[in-house]
Amino acid sequence: MSKICVVGTGYVGLVTGTCLADMGNEVIGLDIDADKIARLQAGELPIYEPGLEELVKRNVEAGRLKFTTSYEEALPGADFAFIAVGTPQGEDGSADLKYVEKAAQSIAHVIKGHTIIINKSTVPIGTGDLVAGIVDRGMNGNRDYASFAVVSNPEFLREGSAVYDFTHPDRIVLGSTDRAAADRVAELYSALKAPTIITDLRTAEMIKYASNAILATRISFVNEIAQICDALGADVSVVAEGMGYDKRIGPQFLSAGIGYGGSCFPKDVKALAHMAETINCHPQLLLAVMDINQDARRNFVRKIERGLGSVTNRKIGVWGLAFKPNTDDMREAPSLDIITALIRKGAEVKVYDPVAMKMARKLLPGGVEFCNDPYSVATDADAVLLLTEWNEFKQVDFGRVKQLMNQPWLFDGRNLYNPADMEKLGFKYESVGRPVLANEKSVSRRSKVESH
Ligand code: NAD
Repeated sequence: MSKICVVGTGYVGLVTGTCLADMGNEVIGLDIDADKIARLQAGELPIYEPGLEELVKRNVEAGRLKFTTSYEEALPGADFAFIAVGTPQGEDGSADLKYVEKAAQSIAHVIKGHTIIINKSTVPIGTGDLVAGIVDRGMNGNRDYASFAVVSNPEFLREGSAVYDFTHPDRIVLGSTDRAAADRVAELYSALKAPTIITDLRTAEMIKYASNAILATRISFVNEIAQICDALGADVSVVAEGMGYDKRIGPQFLSAGIGYGGSCFPKDVKALAHMAETINCHPQLLLAVMDINQDARRNFVRKIERGLGSVTNRKIGVWGLAFKPNTDDMREAPSLDIITALIRKGAEVKVYDPVAMKMARKLLPGGVEFCNDPYSVATDADAVLLLTEWNEFKQVDFGRVKQLMNQPWLFDGRNLYNPADMEKLGFKYESVGRPVLANEKSVSRRSKVESH
């Protein structure tokens, strides 16, 4: 059993702290957001993450998990202090380190005994050294009875399956100049039985950026292929399936759509490109990845305009706002750009998302109408857009939707529905990289593959 403090109780910090408590450790979650901590202390979760609420409750009841806003309460005597604060995008595209720096300063003032400071936030290469310098300088009052080591331990969990991902990691990455400290962190995770890479600080930090960059690259790659498929009459979903069986390629992250979003890929690709530019490297692939990602959203808006003639004064319903299903996270969600563009062009927009409405209200432009279900969104609409592929939208009663709409136009930004089915149901239907012409051919081609 170790004494652990997790600084930052957002998506990463709360999941990390809770899972470590569930593994038998004594954990205290610390945040400067007093409202967030008050809600956690009252047993209420400030974020939506499947399975997390029960886990928090169980560990709080067992006395292994607590929450505080006080560094003085949380840090002294901790064996491990995780930094899991935000690293948002700065104005120039670099990662803004102000929260990491502040957390390191606050830790320095109050540590007691030997504390291993573990950086879980996604941070630019060299931040481990920066944190070590800040803590070292800030320790003046307590240097006689405190010491520390810094370990970089990037996190790879995905929102929506964060608890599972944390407890079933593909790998654990640890970077440090202090091998004994890295070994102790490896021990903390030993029950997870994951391959563990122990390396230097900078390499560990780079593994995180390079991992996110390749995933974003695959998404932009398939979106570029989708655009070409649209123009040439091929079906990108079958193309991706055909590519994915190749073991050298694999099927992951090859779903065409309206581009990546969320709290990680957009800012991390940008921060990596920015890092490269500041050292006179030319990150041409990363720049193209970001361009294609914006194009994916713009192309979708163009497709809607082409379909409807014009969107001015048209009533458009939106199903799904979160950047992906099973999360309420709206950071960099494609829905924000698409809805903003439609409103600017004079459309009237109604929206519904199963869990992200509260977050969305703060971010969407004025004039958007918020509805309680997919049917209210469809009522009197000239078109419905599917922007997040929540399970709830797979089970929609399309007969009812069609009756409610002004005209049955469906633009599917996630290739959730089968074009042939939608056509049979009497919808005018467009998706991404699956031109109507190609559908009949691709369906028969795919069934042939399946029957062998
Ligand atoms: P978040 O915004 O949800 O949470 C960050 C929390 O840190 C907030 O609650 C904030 O109040 C708190 N905080 C800020 N400054 C503080 C301070 N000085 N002391 C104490 N608390 C402080 O962020 P997140 O999504 O959990 O991401 C955290 C880090 O993990 C980022 O670097 C992110 O890139 C990385 N990451 C995120 C994910 C993800 O899916 N969200 C996955 C992997 C890595």
